[in-house]
Amino acid sequence: MRSVLYKCLILIAILSLRALPASADACGYTGVRIEGAQAVEEKAACASIEKLTVYFRSIGIESAAPTIHFYFKPEVILPGTETRVHGYFDTDDNSIHMTHFEGQAGRMPWGFVWSEAMASSFLLHEVAHLFAISYMGGDFRKLQRHWHEFLAYSLQIELMDPELKQRLLQFNGGATAFEKPGDVSSMHYEMDPDRYALRAYFSTQKWGGVTFMKNLLNRKIPESLVTR
Ligand SMILES: [Zn+2]
Repeated sequence: MRSVLYKCLILIAILSLRALPASADACGYTGVRIEGAQAVEEKAACASIEKLTVYFRSIGIESAAPTIHFYFKPEVILPGTETRVHGYFDTDDNSIHMTHFEGQAGRMPWGFVWSEAMASSFLLHEVAHLFAISYMGGDFRKLQRHWHEFLAYSLQIELMDPELKQRLLQFNGGATAFEKPGDVSSMHYEMDPDRYALRAYFSTQKWGGVTFMKNLLNRKIPESLVTR
């Protein structure tokens, strides 16, 4: 089956870093492996799993123990392209490929200086894809790709470091919620992922918060927005 790659197309700088040895049974789960990580990256990977487990439980979803292989590398190229990306999640083999946190220091999402908290939030974004897709099973393809990004960005902002979240929401760049789900489109995502992320978060809040998130995970959004 063709794999689906969830990524963010943002160019990054390269920096070689010393890595910890690969760790199997990471984060206390037999299905989690972490390779090439620095200590701070391994900690952030485990924190992402923990935060999403707690969040899903809070909306009544008991997640299965995660099965995921994290690879942290000096640079990550999106397969089948020559595009350097900060990271991506591959549904084919449940792997997350991430550029080292420090190797992305030139990035300025939302115009903010790169930081450990920011890097951790983008790692959580990829883990959010994993949790959503694991929950949906084979049906995950029925939810359009930009809705998967909508979901992951909403969770990224919802669960990011509280101080960073406060600054981001205060800044907001003039982004507002979409008026209705039918207005959400792939064009908005492709044109400006940073803005789309904020609009996704504000829309989730406006349309019911955790209730909307649960509906989205169960694809209970207007019929026309779900592919068959
Ligand atoms: Zn994504």
